[in-house]
Amino acid sequence: MMQLGTQRVRPDGHLEIGGCDVTELAATYGTPLYVLDEAHLRACCRAYRDTLAAHCQRSKAFYASKALSTSAVAGIVAAEGLGLDVASGGELLTALAGGAPAADLMLHGNFKAEAEMRLALERGVGRICVDSVDEIRAWQALAEELDARPRILLRANPNVKPKTHTSIQVGQLDSKFGLSILSGAAMEAVEVALSCDRLELAGLHCHIGSQVLGWQAFAQAAGELADFMAAIRDRFGVTLDEIDLGGGLGIRYLPEHQPPAIAEFVSHVVSALLAKLAELGLPEPLIMMEPGRSLVGEAGTTLYTVGPVKVIPGVRTYVSVDGGLSDNPRPEMYGAEYNVFIANRAADTPDTVVTVSGKHCETDTLFRDVTVAAPRRGDLLAVQSTGAYNYAMASNYNRLPRPAMVTVADGQAELIVRRETAEDLLACDLLPARLQG
Ligand SMILES: *Cc1c(COP(=O)(O)O)cnc(C)c1O
Repeated sequence: MMQLGTQRVRPDGHLEIGGCDVTELAATYGTPLYVLDEAHLRACCRAYRDTLAAHCQRSKAFYASKALSTSAVAGIVAAEGLGLDVASGGELLTALAGGAPAADLMLHGNFKAEAEMRLALERGVGRICVDSVDEIRAWQALAEELDARPRILLRANPNVKPKTHTSIQVGQLDSKFGLSILSGAAMEAVEVALSCDRLELAGLHCHIGSQVLGWQAFAQAAGELADFMAAIRDRFGVTLDEIDLGGGLGIRYLPEHQPPAIAEFVSHVVSALLAKLAELGLPEPLIMMEPGRSLVGEAGTTLYTVGPVKVIPGVRTYVSVDGGLSDNPRPEMYGAEYNVFIANRAADTPDTVVTVSGKHCETDTLFRDVTVAAPRRGDLLAVQSTGAYNYAMASNYNRLPRPAMVTVADGQAELIVRRETAEDLLACDLLPARLQG
């Protein structure tokens, strides 16, 4: 196993997280189970918050809550002093339910429904990141109607392509997100925003991609934003006051993934930005970052119960588990890989190559050709680094109930998302009268 956060192997060979024996968690809460290492999550929040504060006069870290949106997670992150990015009405209401102040929220998205826009203005969401000229005009009209004056950031594309999966590269010209600096679209949008008397154009935003295992592309994007800020000053005589560098730092899914530490990442990127701003004669703005995966990813572990083990001689050994693409669609979506091991015999030598499949009516391979201690029916399989984009992307395919989630810390476990029930699964179904016997 990779040693992440508070994870360790107990003398009896069981995996322990947050001082809790995972075999006891599985017995109490059932499987599949999402386990969240609260101390690790809090440490990651502090690393962003404190490193930003050490380098900047004014700074704020925002948690991109789409990575794992639950009210308890929102509450933990808000308690650590972070704001939250929300990309829908549902994420907005979840952040508020967790106790995050509306002023510390930032609304994102390339399609903000009118109801979501109203909700944001009515609740007093602190910042809105706009993604198109159409959207800027829509905010102006709505702000006039509601007598509001929203603070907006413009999402600019710095034309930087980080090394990562193509479906999570988002900062290039050909992207549904943002407005290209290079093509002039971003400058046009600035002109429109400045002409809207109901909008306070506070600054610029960029987000170039996700699961990026270095800081160089981010430093480059930050430099492009600074250049664009100087161009806006030169053209309109307006000096914007905020720069948001987005999220995207990668995590350790496999031992060979070696992302920079959060503190190292933040200091490199912010130093590059500050140097560039100074060179351009721009005053230091409020500097923001929006990590998602790098806050919650490594803090999450999924526990599955091992079911049938099927050996196809000379071909492969299939191990079925009690979840699958409904609780983790990333292997199917992105070919994502994970580190797995037998959690009730975590000290045993991994000596058996197996392919782990989910229980869905698909070839839902979760983990292909992974080496684990010979699995037996009834074992517990631990999957590391499942905190981000697992529960958040979960579905009810095959009408499976979505799993429960617990936080663990100091030997205590707390249920933060209860397991769905049969009633939950049927709650939205309606049976027309003509079909009722
Ligand atoms: C997804 C997203 C993030 C977070 O990305 P991670 O890779 O999870 O850190 C930040 N900002 C925006 C606008 C996003 O869409």
